[in-house]
Amino acid sequence: MPEKLIFELSSKGRRGYTLPKCDVPEKEIAELIPPDMLRDKPAELPEVSEVDVVRHFVNLSTLNHHVDKGFYPLGSCTMKYNPKVNEDMAGLPGFAHIHPLQPESTVQGALQLMYELGQYLCEIAGMDDITLQPAAGAHGELTGLLMMRAYHEKRGNPRSKVILPDSAHGTNPASVVTAGYKTVQIRSDRRGLVDLDQLRSVMDEEVAVVMLTNPNTLGLFESDICEIAKIVHHAGALLYMDGANLNALLGIARPGDMGFDVVHFNLHKTFSTPHGGGGPGSGPLGVKKDLAKFLPVPVVRKNQNPKSKTQIEYSLDYDLPESIGKIHGFYGNFGVLVKAYTYIRMLGPKGLREVSEAAIINANYLLRRLEPYFDVPYEGCCMHEFVLSGNRQKDKGVKTLDIAKRLLDHGVHAPTVYFPLIVPEALMIEPTETESKESLDHFVEAMIKINEEVETNPDIVKTAPHTTPVGRLDEALAAKNLDVRWKPKEE
Ligand SMILES: *Cc1c(COP(=O)(O)O)cnc(C)c1O
Repeated sequence: MPEKLIFELSSKGRRGYTLPKCDVPEKEIAELIPPDMLRDKPAELPEVSEVDVVRHFVNLSTLNHHVDKGFYPLGSCTMKYNPKVNEDMAGLPGFAHIHPLQPESTVQGALQLMYELGQYLCEIAGMDDITLQPAAGAHGELTGLLMMRAYHEKRGNPRSKVILPDSAHGTNPASVVTAGYKTVQIRSDRRGLVDLDQLRSVMDEEVAVVMLTNPNTLGLFESDICEIAKIVHHAGALLYMDGANLNALLGIARPGDMGFDVVHFNLHKTFSTPHGGGGPGSGPLGVKKDLAKFLPVPVVRKNQNPKSKTQIEYSLDYDLPESIGKIHGFYGNFGVLVKAYTYIRMLGPKGLREVSEAAIINANYLLRRLEPYFDVPYEGCCMHEFVLSGNRQKDKGVKTLDIAKRLLDHGVHAPTVYFPLIVPEALMIEPTETESKESLDHFVEAMIKINEEVETNPDIVKTAPHTTPVGRLDEALAAKNLDVRWKPKEE
């Protein structure tokens, strides 16, 4: 039975709370609030007991798939488990109950956390300075592009083009165009990597930036990255790293050492803060020192030599005359920063390296177990994720989309499908480090079972899912005719 709306659970006079008797003089509401701001009739709110509310939301929380419920190998999104201690820390009153307009002297702890998180991220990525303001990866990309534009402008010519590989995530070209540049696409070679000759052939004085993801969206490490950096810098351009796949590199390799000038972090991916369903993200942006003067204001600083006991240690620096300005209200999504900081402190340097090692081993284990059943477009080992093709299954009449839907009947979220665009019928699989061998094996068995069904019972795959609260939906219809408004029953 579908879960009812909370309004449908309402019963007149039912209460979910009791308040103590008022111990101050009571006043009419109209004495306190201007009459034109008062409602004519009471708001229509559901009248429910506490247990109604709790059951309603617990039931709702199990209708969708989520990381706390089952395996979620959504490639590129790094749907790792989110340790609950992160939430405890973000909920501490000293963090949760402060206001961004408080004087700096009263929020030294929050500023220290932001400063230290910035230092850790710079260390992890080999960068010199950082802003924590961007709200997510795409926002970090835009911030980085605006800073790189400012850098080129300062040298006399903002230039006009940004180079992207054909495996790039869709936010990359979107950010490029938003920042006022034209995109130039280069194709991946047979290894799935940047084709060096093609890169050389498109480099000229008008190229401002080359934007890469490393490991790329095929889950492959750009092994020529140092040569790429040389080619890019020789032409006076800058090298940007989309850091969405940083879960493969922690403690192993640093973008800054590979020659990247700018990198964004997706704290909600690599650093375990909850995402999906539009929850708050955070996309800090690390830069090499030549770009630091263009950072958005304010930048959190540590006063290295406090002159007296009264001088504050951490402060907000607005004095950056060449800053690109502000790109977020106040200082970014602070709660997400606390969670990422907690995660880094819980693991330490050794633990972070183990995260990436385990993520890579898990992905390679799945790749080796699945390759007898599905086409593998690029040979060799993968990093933290890999891409299969459902071509063989499509020839038998079952599409990748059908396989994705059928996985839901096994309690598994689908991998990312039809991305990257260069792999037909793509299935992009990222297990993350937080899965046990048992849950990886469960996924492999589900994939093998579905592959058998392609031969023996294709219709059950093509009409899946069968065990979820709703079956296969017309996705376009829901987007075009959205109707979520509650309408009271006609009396
Ligand atoms: C997730 C992702 C992005 C965008 O990041 P958001 O935080 O969702 O804005 C960009 N590039 C790649 C490769 C990604 O996986």
